[in-house]
Amino acid sequence: MNYHQYYQTDVINGPGTRATLFVSGCEHQCRGCYNQSTWNACSGHEFDEQMQQRIIDDLNDDRIKRRGLSLSGGDPLFPANLMAILALVKRVNAECPGKDIWLWTGYTLASLSPEQQQVVDLVNVVVDGKFEQALADPSLVFKGSSNQQIHYLR
Ligand code: SF4
Repeated sequence: MNYHQYYQTDVINGPGTRATLFVSGCEHQCRGCYNQSTWNACSGHEFDEQMQQRIIDDLNDDRIKRRGLSLSGGDPLFPANLMAILALVKRVNAECPGKDIWLWTGYTLASLSPEQQQVVDLVNVVVDGKFEQALADPSLVFKGSSNQQIHYLR
């Protein structure tokens, strides 16, 4: 898996102060996508062991208290990302007690493959659905268009 951006400290993508990872790779091609540069799974930087460890360390760093991790993109549930994302969410659950995980995906919860569902089973909140330009509304919180839904799962 590759990633485009990692924000060590972020107050925009999800509730509270968070760490946020924007991964590479997305097949949805939503019209009006604000992040088209992430569509190519080979773009960005390699998400290696060091980067994974950095996220764990940031979440456990008490100097800046982060509420959790946000996973966006691109699409964290893009098939080629699933192995790396599953490993990451497993580690966050095991090694970062009290931290939540939010995940944004263009897939709907009803359409997930068993492999995608395995990841979703380990995250707290999923914001699902493609970005629909006709339904875009800048006043929405944590989503871009009104068809998208926030699912509080755990
Ligand atoms: S799912 Fe997100 S990143 Fe992918 S095309 Fe749609 S808006 Fe862009």
